[in-house]
Amino acid sequence: MLKTCALSLVLLGLGTSILPAEPVAKPNILLILSDDQGYADLGFQGCKDIPTPHLDRLAGAGIHFNNGYVTHPFCSPSRAGLLTGRYQQRFGHEQNPYYDPNDHREGLPVTETLLPQYLRQAGYITGWIGKWHLGAAPEFRPQARGFMETFGFIGGGHHYLNWQVETNLDGREYNVPIERNGVPVTVTNHLTLAFGDEGADFVRRHRDQPWFLYLAFNAPHTPLEPTPERLAKFKAIADPKRRKYAAQVSLLDDAVGTVLTALHESGQDQRTLVFFFSDNGGPLGATGNGSINLPLRAGKGTVYEGGMHVPFVMSWPGTLPAGGEYNYPVSSLDVFPTALALAGAPMPTDKIHDGVNLLPYLTGANTNAPHDELFWRMNGGRQIAARVEDFKYIHIRNQPAELYNLGNDLSEKNDLAGVKTNELNQLEGKVNKWNSQLIPPAFPGLAGHSKPPAEP
Ligand code: CA
Repeated sequence: MLKTCALSLVLLGLGTSILPAEPVAKPNILLILSDDQGYADLGFQGCKDIPTPHLDRLAGAGIHFNNGYVTHPFCSPSRAGLLTGRYQQRFGHEQNPYYDPNDHREGLPVTETLLPQYLRQAGYITGWIGKWHLGAAPEFRPQARGFMETFGFIGGGHHYLNWQVETNLDGREYNVPIERNGVPVTVTNHLTLAFGDEGADFVRRHRDQPWFLYLAFNAPHTPLEPTPERLAKFKAIADPKRRKYAAQVSLLDDAVGTVLTALHESGQDQRTLVFFFSDNGGPLGATGNGSINLPLRAGKGTVYEGGMHVPFVMSWPGTLPAGGEYNYPVSSLDVFPTALALAGAPMPTDKIHDGVNLLPYLTGANTNAPHDELFWRMNGGRQIAARVEDFKYIHIRNQPAELYNLGNDLSEKNDLAGVKTNELNQLEGKVNKWNSQLIPPAFPGLAGHSKPPAEP
């Protein structure tokens, strides 16, 4: 038998969850995503050199997950899993799409139905702000995937300050115009702050109707372009890359604060469930952004914990306990069923959905673990991993399989593959069974094109 996770939910300072006097009908859902943020790079994760007071306050007002995961160790597939509630390899979304508005393969397959489409049917106003990265052809764009109001850019990244707008394909992606509802607009503010202002405006305008806002910041993804004023506040950080990254994280925190303030001032705190997490772990090394994932091993682009074990928060004042810590593993796949439950909408039955509604687990109504197993696959199987209770199985092609006990080895330092052969075989069997349900990558992605992107 595998070791059972200790302690599911600890309520600090509160003996029980607080239930509202009357259940809120169709609460708002605010889904805040950061991009390539390091596991260690938030105050509530123990960070000392980058103050993040607004995100810390959000975490303190809700539940902080010690084992929160996304479904992929890099951008686009992680977002595809998040918005469909399905392991994205079930529909072949395993690469970052190549940015080309004329390419009708490179994007989240149109056979999938996204969360905003269901929420819109349930009476929600649906909005997207920020980074899309799920395909550039018209049929892949957010307006075609259930979002009623849109503001942002379609590619995988963007400059933050003083970019030269380019509309030709060769310049593209990081320099394309920012668009509101598909129409180019001029942005003069730092892009992260502009996204915060836009989010605050959305929250205020829709105070009288249920809404879903997917606020997908590209910060602190490269390029690192903080404002000079903010950069000057971090002069104590010696490493120049880390200094810019810190300033960019600080701007992200400000932008989140702008939206949370609008939520509070418009009286919507207690009828809004807020999610916050990063789309993947921080990228390390020469092409990284200066992030730190410690104590996790490795980072973006690997199936070690640093790739997809991320800072993860849920907050819903008055319904979920403030200051709660949750230890059982949860997944970004859980956003989809949790959101549909809030909307009073049934789960679709035409396809397999892989997440669970977290609310019964977080209010204490269900004390079991939400997931018996979680899986990851990258690049058509070149890296594959499974977590079952505290054990983590990893197989990187052309290398021996690895096994770690995250219960006492979160940093994946002590490979147990040669010792715990029963567990190794058990997890290998589970991951092979899961893998047999998946299809090969449906589009070649960046790696399959000869022309390099305009930016890394
Ligand atoms: Ca990312």
